[in-house]
Amino acid sequence: MTANKRLLVLPGDGIGPEVMREVRRVIDWMDRRRHVSFALEEGLVGGAALEATGSPCPDETVERALATDAVLFGSVGGPKWDSLPFEKRPELGILRLRKELGLFANLRPAVVLDPLVDASSLKPDVVRGLDLMIVRETTGGIYFGEPRGVETMPNGKRRGIDTEVYTEDEIARVARVAFDLARKRSNRLTSVEKANVMQSGRLWRAVVSEVGKNEFPDVELSHMYADNCAMQLANRPKQFDVILAGNLFGDVLSDLAAALTGSLGMLPSATLGAPDSSGRRNALYEPIHGSAPDIAGKGIANPCAQMLSLAMLLRWSFGMEEDAKMIETAVEKVLAGGLRTADIMGPGTARVGTSVMGDAVLRELDKLAA
Ligand code: NAD
Repeated sequence: MTANKRLLVLPGDGIGPEVMREVRRVIDWMDRRRHVSFALEEGLVGGAALEATGSPCPDETVERALATDAVLFGSVGGPKWDSLPFEKRPELGILRLRKELGLFANLRPAVVLDPLVDASSLKPDVVRGLDLMIVRETTGGIYFGEPRGVETMPNGKRRGIDTEVYTEDEIARVARVAFDLARKRSNRLTSVEKANVMQSGRLWRAVVSEVGKNEFPDVELSHMYADNCAMQLANRPKQFDVILAGNLFGDVLSDLAAALTGSLGMLPSATLGAPDSSGRRNALYEPIHGSAPDIAGKGIANPCAQMLSLAMLLRWSFGMEEDAKMIETAVEKVLAGGLRTADIMGPGTARVGTSVMGDAVLRELDKLAA
């Protein structure tokens, strides 16, 4: 029996609890069939936490998240809370967790699985076999830089200000995550900025180059301007393996890369903190989709992104590569067999709901483990 692995599950709102239910079945399956013992706790976040405690991210949730090995997050938000002031909104749940856990590196894979190649808006030839990873810095840059705000000028007109600011330590630590990841993949990294017109971009390029030269000389590093990268992603996405970007460019490029796959319900993500002296790091895993209020409660949400988030968690927080791969393969086999939730329907496929999709993944896991 492998040692206990501590896991905090935060289902949240909307379809969060529905898709998390299917993931809990996969975790139970692993307990039984793979003899991995998870010390699993469930906590409150988002609107669910707001209703129960008055806060979208209660202190108790933060304390438990700091004490656990990995957080598996669902999704938060919904129309019920849309009219609340900003500081009360469910979405603050995830923002506070990212801040308190020091999660600065967001990893978003964009993978086109063969059975879903037609779901992309691009031609099948352009995206078939696509498998890239975007590493986005998430605690610095223009979303946090000071000064910021809207002020009234002496002439009575208003102006809005945001500041793009990065220290070399902030750049170096996220660069290390991206280089490390590149080493585990095809040893190629593309770092993205606008060094041609931004001072922070010049520093970004210089620091990434230094980290590469001094610590990862074996990784092939290239630099690209962000606007060119957007164009290249839409034209020839398969040229990329790992892309590294700051907060703003990473936000835009990772959404573009997600769109290439054509299926929001299929995409997981990880957000990582800095490793301590023992190599342990805070980490949170979540699907990139939101709480999908338009389909919540109908039993039709696609649970795959949440399941693939568990696979990322096993790989990144627990080093369980074989088990992670097993979940990914099981999901792909279910899709290849023609079962689909409504969001990824294609010609000649059969439409099923959330729990039937979960049943099918468990059946495939059984076969893979036999
Ligand atoms: P969304 O991702 O929730 O939904 C966009 C569209 O995709 C909807 O039509 C939805 O039905 C569909 N969709 C999403 N996930 C799906 C799945 N697993 N299976 C099938 N269909 C799926 O984005 P939105 O509508 O812009 O936001 C809804 C709420 O979610 C808002 O309150 C928003 O603030 C919140 N949100 C939360 C997070 C998060 O928790 N990290 C992220 C994004 C949005």
